[in-house]
Amino acid sequence: MTQDSSKLVNNVRRPLAIESLPGSDWLLPFERNKNPQLPLQPAEHASTAMAAAPLPTVGDTLSPEEKASALARLNQSEVSSCQKCPLHQTRNHVVFGEGDPAAGLVFVGEGPGADEDATGKPFVGRAGELLTNMIHAMGLDRQQVFICNILKCRPPGNRNPAPEEVRACWNYLIRQLEIIRPRVIVTLGNPATQNLLQTQVGITKLRGNWQQLPDIGKGLAGILVMPTFHPSYILRRYTPEIRGKAWFDLQAVTQELGLTIPKKI
Ligand code: SF4
Repeated sequence: MTQDSSKLVNNVRRPLAIESLPGSDWLLPFERNKNPQLPLQPAEHASTAMAAAPLPTVGDTLSPEEKASALARLNQSEVSSCQKCPLHQTRNHVVFGEGDPAAGLVFVGEGPGADEDATGKPFVGRAGELLTNMIHAMGLDRQQVFICNILKCRPPGNRNPAPEEVRACWNYLIRQLEIIRPRVIVTLGNPATQNLLQTQVGITKLRGNWQQLPDIGKGLAGILVMPTFHPSYILRRYTPEIRGKAWFDLQAVTQELGLTIPKKI
C-alpha cells in the first residue's frame, strides 16, 4: 500500500458535489444522451492515451500469456459447462467475465442480469454503459481492466445471489483472482463487498474506505479493495450525492494506481 493509500484506510470521506470534480461529467451518460451536441463516449481520447500503460499487479507468478491461458482453461473446462447449482437450469449463457487477464484493476459485481445472460458478457445494458463510462472517467478502457461477478449465471428476476449459490460458485471467482492477482479490486454493491471482505457491514458504511482482502485465496490476502455502489443502484438513485460518492471512490482508485484523470472536453 502506498503512503497515500494508507492515509485513506478508515478515512471517512465527505460526499462532494459530483459536478465540482474533474472528469465527473463522464458519469452523466444519460443526461449527455439527451444532448446530441455531446459525445456518447467522451473518453475515447483517454483510452488511446492510456492504452500503452498496463496497470501493475501484485506478486505475479504467471506471465500475461500464462494468465490468459489459465483463465481460458478455467472457463472452457469448468465454468462454461457448470451445473453445480440450480441456476444452470435457467441460464442462457454463462458469464465468465472479460478483460485483461493481467489487469491491475478488477471490478466485481454480484451476478449477471438479463442483458448479460442474453449475451454472455458482463455489465452490458444500461448498468454496463454506466460502468463503462465510470471506467473511461478513470482514464481506462474496459479492455484494460477485468470485469466479473460473484455468480456466473443469472439469478432469475435479478434477485440477490442466494448464499448456497455463492458457495457453489465461489471457487471460480477465487481462482480468477488468484490467476489475475490485481493490485486493486473494486467491489460493486453489497453482495460483492460483503462476500469478498467476509463481513456483514453494509456498502453504505464501507464505501469510500480502503479495505484489504482477507486470506480467501493463494496470494490474495491484503489486496486493496475499494467498495463502491453498484451501477444499477446509481441508476436507480441518480442523484448528485450518490454519483459524487461513487466518483469519489473511483478517484481514490485512480490515485492509488497512479492514473491521470482525463481532462474535460
Ligand atoms: S452460478 Fe456458478 S455454480 Fe451455479 S451453475 Fe452457474 S457457474 Fe455453476
